[in-house]
Amino acid sequence: MLLHRSRLVLPLAGPPIEDGALVADGSIIAGVGLFDELRAQFSSMDTVDHGETILLPGLINAHCHLDFTVMRGAILPNSSFSAWVRRINELKRTLTDGDYLRSIADGLAELRHWGTTTVLNIESLPELMVHLPPPPIRTWWFYELLDIRNRIHTEEVVAGALSFFEQRPAWHGGFGLSPHAPYTTSLELYRLARFCSEKYGMPFTTHLAESDEELRMFSEGSGPLFDFLAGLGRDMSDCGGRTPIRHLLEAGALPTGAILAHMNQLGPGDEALLAAHAGAFAIVHCPNCHEYFRRAPFPYETLRGLGFRISLGTDSCASNRGLNLFDEMQTFHRAFPGVAPGELLDMVTRHPAAALGHAGRLGELRPGARADFLTLPFGGATDDALDAVVENRAPPLAVYLNGHSA
Ligand SMILES: [Zn+2]
Repeated sequence: MLLHRSRLVLPLAGPPIEDGALVADGSIIAGVGLFDELRAQFSSMDTVDHGETILLPGLINAHCHLDFTVMRGAILPNSSFSAWVRRINELKRTLTDGDYLRSIADGLAELRHWGTTTVLNIESLPELMVHLPPPPIRTWWFYELLDIRNRIHTEEVVAGALSFFEQRPAWHGGFGLSPHAPYTTSLELYRLARFCSEKYGMPFTTHLAESDEELRMFSEGSGPLFDFLAGLGRDMSDCGGRTPIRHLLEAGALPTGAILAHMNQLGPGDEALLAAHAGAFAIVHCPNCHEYFRRAPFPYETLRGLGFRISLGTDSCASNRGLNLFDEMQTFHRAFPGVAPGELLDMVTRHPAAALGHAGRLGELRPGARADFLTLPFGGATDDALDAVVENRAPPLAVYLNGHSA
């Protein structure tokens, strides 16, 4: 057991604690409180004094594609989504298995460097995972499912992926399913993913309502994404007359608890439809990716007002400058200066933990939670601590996962 002391502990599960401490019993937190009181209670324990710092929970990145870390700066910002999809498909064809493995390793290292201890990663090449060492942070690998090019996915494939994790007890995290998006994934495949997610208790995420081109494809049956996908041979008979959100919801394609990435473009009738599902889904917003595509403002107030909890993600380096959640909080804060820093911090800790089904175990410091935390230098007043975290521009001084620093 170890006692970690810090000038200010931000448990998020409760108010900030000046001259606070955390007791790590192996990988689990055994206590959080005033240093003096914990010191008296656990007098034989070694102490790590983190000095003039803020100690807070490790951050959780709710949407990432580690496969594309090597594509940083490779695609110039362009407001056309279908042009970007064309370009990334061209680039993907030039990458070797070695490039992808390096991409995943570099991405994981960069995430940890910036204080992320849990990531929801969408994996388009799950067959490469047998070559990976245990990841340095808690990683949920979401098996990407799409069938525009007739890839075969069955329940047996999903069950096989589950046994992969059962054979790797040193891997922290788990396995989930990610039907890619309504424009690349058939409703039949969505329903299979929903069935497996419910049967095996696996988290489920998908891209939804990301671009105006996606909205136009489904609502009007036209536009650049429609033309691009029709050219690839996709059956376009499901397009016209309804929004992408209605397309999935009315088909029963989404399990309760589905994690919906983006939700940028609400069309006619979507608000009323979503109101009937408030709280049933989690939503992920990717602020830097949003800026990269020069999208219209994210409907944060609308979605929050409907009762949805919003998390933040980085998306991939194919549409972002890095994998740094502090940078994402700052970009979000510039777009929505009225959102309180405590709420913003919840978007990279408690909200994504709840979306994963790990509320109280990840994303906050409390007895029984995982000992995942980080420290930032801090010399200011306690009242300014939350702002200091949101505005932090330096890598954390220390990052602990399961009670261990790297
Ligand atoms: Zn994505």
